[in-house]
Amino acid sequence: MNPNDIHCENLIFSDHAINQMFKRDISVENTRMIVDFGEIIQDYPDDKPFPNCLLLGHISKRPIHLVIGVNKNECVVITANEPDPKLWDGNFKMKTKLECSLCKNGTTEKGYVTVTLEKGETIVLIKNVPAEVCTNCGHYYLSAETTQLVLDKGKEAYEKGTELEVVKLQVA
Ligand SMILES: [Zn+2]
Repeated sequence: MNPNDIHCENLIFSDHAINQMFKRDISVENTRMIVDFGEIIQDYPDDKPFPNCLLLGHISKRPIHLVIGVNKNECVVITANEPDPKLWDGNFKMKTKLECSLCKNGTTEKGYVTVTLEKGETIVLIKNVPAEVCTNCGHYYLSAETTQLVLDKGKEAYEKGTELEVVKLQVA
């Protein structure tokens, strides 16, 4: 994406960005400055539903990364982060470790999560699910095998017509 292609007349903010901004004390004005004057350091032109890019800017001396989606004249601030020096080079422009594909700012660690699935009137909470969890944003990734187990649990509860089911995943 060419920097000239970004004409963000309108900024809107995702729930995720708002929470990150609150946690890290990043204002709307700060993000506006970074969108207008920041540097594009990574580009995801094929992301859906619209192209994304990662911008680097500074608030006082703090480096800030914004992931924004560009949808015509409207830009969506998807995440706002202070990059972790352990994961980035000294200029905060190059990733030194594998990234989380959702926030593009964290790496994953093994852990356990509670998966929430919803369909119709049914809500299923599946506890004790082994996952790779992003240390930055908390999004998690499951193996194909675990995903199938989780989907099966969800389907079971949905077909029984349970409103709220809490199950503990038994993993070998
Ligand atoms: Zn993440």
